[in-house]
Amino acid sequence: MSARNILVINCGSSSIKFALVNEAQETFIVSGLAERLGSPEAVLHWQHGQHKHSQALPSADHGLALSHLLSIVQQTAAGVLHGIGHRVVHGGEHFSGASRVDAASLQAIRQVAPLAPLHNPANLLGIEAAMKLFPDLVQVAVFDTAFHQSLPEHAYRYAVPQALYAEHGVRRYGFHGTSHRYVSRKAAQMSGLAFDASSWLVAHLGNGSSTCAVENGRSRDTSMGLTPLEGLVMGTRSGDVDPNLHSHLARTLGWSLERIDSMLNKDSGLLGLSGLSNDMRTLEQAREQGHAGATLAIEVFCYRLAKSLAAMSCALRRLDGLIFTGGIGENSALIRSKTLDHLGLLGLQLDAQANARCVRGVAGAIHADGHTRVLVVPTNEERQIALDTLALLD
Ligand code: AMP
Repeated sequence: MSARNILVINCGSSSIKFALVNEAQETFIVSGLAERLGSPEAVLHWQHGQHKHSQALPSADHGLALSHLLSIVQQTAAGVLHGIGHRVVHGGEHFSGASRVDAASLQAIRQVAPLAPLHNPANLLGIEAAMKLFPDLVQVAVFDTAFHQSLPEHAYRYAVPQALYAEHGVRRYGFHGTSHRYVSRKAAQMSGLAFDASSWLVAHLGNGSSTCAVENGRSRDTSMGLTPLEGLVMGTRSGDVDPNLHSHLARTLGWSLERIDSMLNKDSGLLGLSGLSNDMRTLEQAREQGHAGATLAIEVFCYRLAKSLAAMSCALRRLDGLIFTGGIGENSALIRSKTLDHLGLLGLQLDAQANARCVRGVAGAIHADGHTRVLVVPTNEERQIALDTLALLD
C-alpha cells in the first residue's frame, strides 16, 4: 500500500489551521491558516513546499474556507485523501483516546461544550463542514484532554464539595495532551528507552503553557485544570492566582465576572506583568535593553515554571529526563537556563553550548555530563493527530 495522506484540521472560532500529512514524510505536503473568518478581511494563507500563497476570501465562513482549502489539498494530494483528523479541545471524561466521528461522538462533544465554550463549538463547526464536503471519508476527533484521563483521582480532584464533581464535572482535565504524548514518546525514542517503561517531566511552553508528568507512557499529573487557565504564567493568561481574587475584585472594585474573566485570560501573564508584550522574543530583546517589566515577566515565568516542574516530580517514582517543547521551549536558551537555575535540587544542570545549539527545530540533549537528561524536542501535534487518525483507519 502506498503511503497515506491525512488532512489535519484545527478549527478556532474565527480561524482554521490545517496540514496535509503524508505518513511517510516528516514535512507537511501543504499547510496553512484561514483567519478572520466571518469578517470582510477573511484570508487563506498556505505553504506548499517552499512556496507561500494567500487568497482573500471576503466574509467567508468556516464552510466556505474549508471548501477552498480542501480544493488546494486535493490538488496537492493528487486527489488522494485517506482520512481527516480533527483537533478537539475538550473530551471531558468521555474520551480517553481518539474517536471516529459518528452521531454518538458528536453528541458527546456537544455535551461537554459547556466546559470549553470558546473551543468545542468551533471544533464542531469544522467537523460538520468537513462531513458535508466529504461524507464518505473517515473523520477522527483527537482530544487535548484525552491523554490526561489516566490521572489518578488524587491528582484530578479539587478540594471542593464532591457534588460539584459528581453532578457538574468540576475536576482537573488538563490540556496540550497531544503534544505531551508526542514529545514524551519522541524523547523515549531519542534516549533508547521504551516509552511504556520511561518517566518524563514535560514543559510545553508556547502562548499557552503547561507541564506534565508522564510515567510509563501515561499522564500522571498536569498543570492545567478544569480550564486552560490554571497553572503556569502564559502569554496573556495569569495561570494560578488566589481563588479569592474574583470575589476580592468584585467586592473592592465592583468588577463583573466577565471583566475578571477577560482580565485573567487576555490581559495577564507575560503581557500583564511586562506591560509590553505577550511575545517572548519581544520580551527577551526588551530585557537586554534593561526594560524592567520584561525582566520581571521573564523572572516570574521561569520561577513559576520551575515550581510547577518540582511539583510534577511528586507524580513520578523515577526521572529519565525533562523535555522542553513549544515555541518558547524549543527556541529560548535563556528561559531553559533560567528555569533550571531554580531546579538544582532535582539534579538538573545544562551544558551551555548544547543549550545554545538547540533552537529553530534542532532537537537534542542539553544537559551537562553526569546530570539528569534534559532534552529539547520540537512538538508536532498535527503529525500526532494524523498518526491517531491512521491508527483508527487500521
Ligand atoms: P507557540 O504558541 O508554541 O507557537 O509559541 C509562541 C511563543 O514562542 C511566543 O511567545 C514566541 O515569542 C515564542 N518564541 C518563538 N520563537 C522564539 C525565540 N527564538 N526565542 C524566544 N521565544 C520564541
